[in-house]
Amino acid sequence: MANGPCAIYGKHKMRSPKLVGVRDMNGNYINSVFKIGSMFTCGCGDRILTSGSPNTGDYVGYYVTEGGIKAGRFESSGVGGGYYMVPSNMVYYKGSNVLDGYEF
Ligand SMILES: [Zn+2]
Repeated sequence: MANGPCAIYGKHKMRSPKLVGVRDMNGNYINSVFKIGSMFTCGCGDRILTSGSPNTGDYVGYYVTEGGIKAGRFESSGVGGGYYMVPSNMVYYKGSNVLDGYEF
């Protein structure tokens, strides 16, 4: 579900994962697994949020690509103090560590 080929690398090189909170557009959890995700960023600026850690060989798991990462709420500071909002119908699942168009 890549938004398109990477303008720089052809295949997005997703790097520098950061743990962030994930919620739907109403501020509720997407599901019991995807409460926290890894936010990876490519050199072109495209982001992907995954419930797994595909950079370590883990499943991608639940994920949402750049077009589905709508907004963030970060009023409070500290770990778990904020989250990104994604429409739940733009969340997909991949049961492997490989995702077309992306390199982790
Ligand atoms: Zn890219």
